Amino acid sequence: MNNNPKLDFIDIDGVLFSEEEEDIAFNQKVCKDNNVFLLNLMASPGSGKTTLILKLLEKLKNKYRIGIIEADPEEKVDALKILNQGIDSVQLRTGNGCHLEAGMVRCALEKMNLALYDLVIIENIGNLVCPAEFTLGDDLQMMLLSVPEGDDKALKYPLMFSVVDALVVTKIDVLPYFDFNMQKLKENARRLNPELNIFALSSKTDEGVDDFILYLEKKIKEKQENK
Ligand code: MG
Ligand code: ZN
Repeated sequence: MNNNPKLDFIDIDGVLFSEEEEDIAFNQKVCKDNNVFLLNLMASPGSGKTTLILKLLEKLKNKYRIGIIEADPEEKVDALKILNQGIDSVQLRTGNGCHLEAGMVRCALEKMNLALYDLVIIENIGNLVCPAEFTLGDDLQMMLLSVPEGDDKALKYPLMFSVVDALVVTKIDVLPYFDFNMQKLKENARRLNPELNIFALSSKTDEGVDDFILYLEKKIKEKQENK
């Protein structure tokens, strides 16, 4: 537990990042050297990214040293929620930028003392389109899809479903109120990505959260052992 958590704010609006390959390599190297697992969390705005992160913090903060990279066009609302949990974060203000690039993540990683963390979670900008096109140098790519968004999103946003390692369906506590066909979603998603790991959970009721955590911890352990 961190008694003196910090929130760093970096404004990257309008900054040009042109050394993509170098930045990807940098991110991979500093994370490997410091034994940090870097998780890239992508989803639409309002899908429950921050809420899931807060849930993961609640369950994992006594077991792993965790740092968070927040990215939003404006403000530091999410980073303040993280700070409230006693966790360090870097808030990237992206302005007109609608996705993260490796160079932006590099700015955040350079600001952090990575020796202090085992797990760094990137909350990407809320967007199901272009974040899928950019390699950040992370260890795991996951997307969230909340029940209210609908089960047809794999058909409409195929690239995102194709590139991620894991799909987490969130807000399953509201399933009774929506015509959300889980089976149909899974079939469409697996057609695009046969290896996809699919989880369904509610950060609110806790249902399904532990299954996802088992998967995440397995991935963290695999990286630590391959060092
Ligand atoms: Mg958020
Ligand atoms: Zn974009």
